[in-house]
Amino acid sequence: MKARVERLYDDLYVIQDMCNCYLLLGSEKALLVDTGVGLRDVPAAARSIARRPIVAVNTHAHIDHFGGNHWFDGVFVHRADEEVGAFQNDPAFRKYAVNAMPPPVRLVLPKRIWGPLPLNYRFVSDGETIDLGDRKVEFVHTPGHTPGSCCLYEPSKGYLFGGDTLVPRLVLLNLDFSETPAVLKASMEKLSALDVRKVFPGHHVYETDASLIADYIGACDAHARGEGFLAHDMTGMKRIVKYGKVQIECRADSR
Ligand SMILES: [Zn+2]
Ligand SMILES: [Zn+2]
Repeated sequence: MKARVERLYDDLYVIQDMCNCYLLLGSEKALLVDTGVGLRDVPAAARSIARRPIVAVNTHAHIDHFGGNHWFDGVFVHRADEEVGAFQNDPAFRKYAVNAMPPPVRLVLPKRIWGPLPLNYRFVSDGETIDLGDRKVEFVHTPGHTPGSCCLYEPSKGYLFGGDTLVPRLVLLNLDFSETPAVLKASMEKLSALDVRKVFPGHHVYETDASLIADYIGACDAHARGEGFLAHDMTGMKRIVKYGKVQIECRADSR
């Protein structure tokens, strides 16, 4: 299925496939941040715009961000997400996850990706840089949502691609392999030290600003003070803590 593409700036596009996949155009190469859930042909859309070699990365190893990985020879992801990727790529998990997705995905996707697909991972560490020619983009390791979650930071423009770590509304910390609010807080403090001028999140909107970082730090602090309330979760109980424009959802027993 053809993917919807929007041009945000001359050198930045977004392609939609259950998550926001951003395409950055550099003088030598293009960078694709996340490959979507695999329902729409994100790689074909990216290639038609880029017309230069594409480097693909995953902000983290969740199914809605790695579904198009099999179209690429290698996809960079932080090494701490190796186990999460293997877990989410297992056919049993895919069946469960796809059934929880909205109707178009639930009806069309299983025919395409019922089995495990090659994730084609190449593991990277915090601080590694991708060189696109006239643009350089860094992996900033920001564990929380998953152990290997990363934001991609372009210092010269102050662009930050947030994946599921820096999104409007909420960050989920109640999933398999998620870290505690204390770990997320350390990640947010790391981000707050950067000169972030524009945030491009993995879901909800295409562009927002860095004020989310302070809100998430506030939510983590509120959690540490014992604030928030308990709610039912698919597998038990979770704690929801709201602060400013955001909330975090973590395991009920998270410290
Ligand atoms: Zn995720
Ligand atoms: Zn996501």
